[in-house]
Amino acid sequence: MTDYPTARPTDATYLNEDLDLPTELLNTPWIDGHNHAHTLSYEDRERYALSGCAGMVMVSSGYHWTPYKPVRASDIRYLWDDAINRRAAIERNHFFEAKLGLGIHTGVRIEDPDAVLAAMDEYCELDEVTVVGETGVTPSQHVEAWDLDEQRAVVEAQMAIADDHDLPVILHTPNTSPPAKRSYRPELGTPGYEKNPGLGTDPVINGDNPALEAVKIDVTAAHDAGLPEERVIASHADENNTAYLMAETDCYLSYTIGHSWLVGVDAATVADAIDEYGPERIMIDTDCANVLRTDPYAIKRAMFELYRYGIDIDDIRRVVWENPRRVLGFDE
Ligand SMILES: [Zn+2]
Repeated sequence: MTDYPTARPTDATYLNEDLDLPTELLNTPWIDGHNHAHTLSYEDRERYALSGCAGMVMVSSGYHWTPYKPVRASDIRYLWDDAINRRAAIERNHFFEAKLGLGIHTGVRIEDPDAVLAAMDEYCELDEVTVVGETGVTPSQHVEAWDLDEQRAVVEAQMAIADDHDLPVILHTPNTSPPAKRSYRPELGTPGYEKNPGLGTDPVINGDNPALEAVKIDVTAAHDAGLPEERVIASHADENNTAYLMAETDCYLSYTIGHSWLVGVDAATVADAIDEYGPERIMIDTDCANVLRTDPYAIKRAMFELYRYGIDIDDIRRVVWENPRRVLGFDE
């Protein structure tokens, strides 16, 4: 009991605990290993810097930013060049280390993928390119379906190029969405995700669990490409693929928490995974992008939330800083 000069006792009079608060988390550096920050606003990028971001991989590969469908190799090349063009200015403005991930997304069919694959080798020699991706087979496409064997060939070819340059590959492992409380009018789609509904094609991967099947196909493609499993980062890890990836592969699992409202993955999911499997192969990313309602503060918030959920400070630091720093080539 502490004596306070308050008129009558307050909570302060009764509280007598010496709490050891994790003040070091206020200044622990962190890396966002998968975002699309070059598509965000200046203010969003500034939010990363203000909340202690030390580095990020800006991924340039998404069909969301190629206007023509189907996509041509030259459209992908334009996305890569746009990211290269703006990267240094972003770094100079905000001081975090901005690296690039360049890849070929499979969410829309590409008419002439060999043309962009042929160019990829030279891009991967650039110092700022530290990752290939995001890529990986997807169960269904936007506007026009892409045959699974053709998708897989494009994924495997990128993995072989990554291996030649000793770069890791980011997979966009498909998420399974939590059950909706109520569905929206189909013609409007999901608010918060700027994508025209009704343009999704019939799936090219079927079965009970196409999202998990897609990851397994990607892991086999990595084997065929000669890319070691520990050079594969399964971004969008979730409860549907964690057990498989942890038990049967050496891949890294990166939990995407920048749009939890959409995919249901949050700090609690990450805390459960750390409890069960340890922090050695776990990372967190935001996937922040201008086409989605996303949160540049997501990793910083999650660091505090992981602590509240009982995760050790050393493990948090490992997941948000040490693992991405080493795996994504920030310490080279
Ligand atoms: Zn992404």
